[in-house]
Amino acid sequence: MSPLSAVMAAIGLSAVLFWAGRPYGLADATRLSPSETNVSGIVVVKDARPLMGTVWEITVAERRRSRSALSAIIDQAFDEIARVDQALSDWRDGTELNEVNRNAGNRPVPVSRETYDVVVRANHFSETSNGAFDITFNVMWGVWDFKKSPAALPDPAEIERRLPLINFRDVVLNAEARTIFLRRKGMKIGLGAIGKGYAVDCVCALLEDSGLSNYIVAGGGDMRLSGSRGAAPWRIAVQHPRKKGYIYLLGLTDTAVATSGDYERFFILDGTRYHHILDPKTGHPARGLSSVTIICPNAMDADALATSVFVLGKNKGLQLLEETPGVEGIFVDDNTRSAMTSGLTVRMDDSLELPTVLLKQAGGE
Ligand code: ADP
Ligand code: MG
Repeated sequence: MSPLSAVMAAIGLSAVLFWAGRPYGLADATRLSPSETNVSGIVVVKDARPLMGTVWEITVAERRRSRSALSAIIDQAFDEIARVDQALSDWRDGTELNEVNRNAGNRPVPVSRETYDVVVRANHFSETSNGAFDITFNVMWGVWDFKKSPAALPDPAEIERRLPLINFRDVVLNAEARTIFLRRKGMKIGLGAIGKGYAVDCVCALLEDSGLSNYIVAGGGDMRLSGSRGAAPWRIAVQHPRKKGYIYLLGLTDTAVATSGDYERFFILDGTRYHHILDPKTGHPARGLSSVTIICPNAMDADALATSVFVLGKNKGLQLLEETPGVEGIFVDDNTRSAMTSGLTVRMDDSLELPTVLLKQAGGE
């Protein structure tokens, strides 16, 4: 196994790309035969790299562009992901968020416009989800260890001790001074549930600025796609949360798609699954769903909403999405029963033997 496919296998991707009716491994997702390239005049270039704790895959399909010119743009796109990763990291020494966390209970810390804006957006989703999404969850960092062997539960006293430090209302944002202040000592913020989506949007902006309009940018479960793959649509699918393969095809383009699931970082102990999406009210993994896929125009919002709704659960999550304009969602519960918002419809595609989810307003019904 190559190092990259090992990383892919280890992480397990949520929504994946596949092509031509039969699911492929990510590495084959958009491969064209040479004759196809000649007939269609489309140049498809794809590259994958591990960044931000997941595998990123960027695919572009353009006419009248050389392969080397497209590859150079994709290289810049990976540099952009690395830049965002560094900019939004809370654990690396010397980063803004690290400074904010170190000064919890002490003083407001000036930050860049970029960091400030992402934190403002994160707090917006904390408000709308009534605290289900909360970047101060980060005080639980290290309490849950998903790599430990043999698997073990954290000390309940440790969870109880840290729990009172989770509260997004104690993240004090000063727009004029552009500072972030964590009101209480020991608080910690982390952008793990929104940063990848933001990075996807940054990459899409870079691709658009370079004149590209047909692409898929996928960072693990966070993706955004535009245009088509020549005469054919892009094909994307939602991973089955409990077995190899897919649960839905998505007949979509010009949108972001983000999936949060309980199958990416987890351990199973005495038949119970413990995973990395925490309910800020309990400090324990959120219960009830196994995956949530959000469809909305930008990837940052899709990412934050996927995590929010995962914590809220099916009923409250559906309600939040129905109340949010321009947003749709697909839920799979822990018995693999699914539900979706009213703007989506499902068609069976006999040739693929998988249900295809479409937007009603795009002619799906
Ligand atoms: P992934 O990063 O695996 O694609 P998510 O977008 O759902 O999945 O983000 C999960 C990550 O978000 C966790 O690893 C953790 O860093 C962070 N997180 C966990 N629970 C919450 C929460 N309730 N609110 C905000 N961030 C969270
Ligand atoms: Mg998320």
